[in-house]
Amino acid sequence: MNNEDLVAELLRWNYVKSERVKEAFLAVDRKNFIPEKYRDKAYYDDPLPIGYNQTISAPSMVATMLELLEIEEKDKILEIGTGSGYNACLLAALGERVITIERIPQLRDFAKKNMEKCEYREKVLVLLGDGSEGYEAEAPYDKIIVTCGAPDIPDSLIKQLKDGGRLVIPVGGTFFQELYVVEKEGEKIKKRVWGDVAFVPMIGKHGHRWA
Ligand code: SAH
Repeated sequence: MNNEDLVAELLRWNYVKSERVKEAFLAVDRKNFIPEKYRDKAYYDDPLPIGYNQTISAPSMVATMLELLEIEEKDKILEIGTGSGYNACLLAALGERVITIERIPQLRDFAKKNMEKCEYREKVLVLLGDGSEGYEAEAPYDKIIVTCGAPDIPDSLIKQLKDGGRLVIPVGGTFFQELYVVEKEGEKIKKRVWGDVAFVPMIGKHGHRWA
């Protein structure tokens, strides 16, 4: 199997729906973001360990979130939970600028190294720290994506969204969550639940307190 086979499967099962998301998946090879030990599984639709009790999400989950975000070319995007850097590169393929935050220094380094092979790396700023309250310095964002499970939707993230912006975030416990799509329309905040998901917990000031 290769990355094109993975994309073909994502299309076949309708996880990838749009031409733009398809092109992004074709442009970013998942193998470059997988620890050597698991490289033979890079093109399976499974989450994989990346060390430090963290995982790279299953490609179908990544595709679902990217489709829900409806990223446009000029979008400035905030990601919380850099992990392997895979999703950050996909975001960079889809938008104009990406700010991604990771709390584990070794994973920040892992992501940066993986991203050396990504043609969109110059659009990505990788930061180390607690992203549970977003990143005010670069706000506002057109899109915000959280790739770890939060106990609830942080007000700070809604504040950091542009009018017309969109936030995709898993909300719930430390094992299972519901995936929320939040839209900001002036003073109005529209929320809907996409479905059940399982992410590693968001640890931090506005996150869970333990790993
Ligand atoms: N998007 C990643 C997968 C992320 S796994 C990828 O494409 O590979 C979730 C990541 O969120 C983990 O690396 C974890 O360390 C990180 N994380 C958890 N809480 C965080 C916080 N408060 N701020 C930033 N990163 C956090």
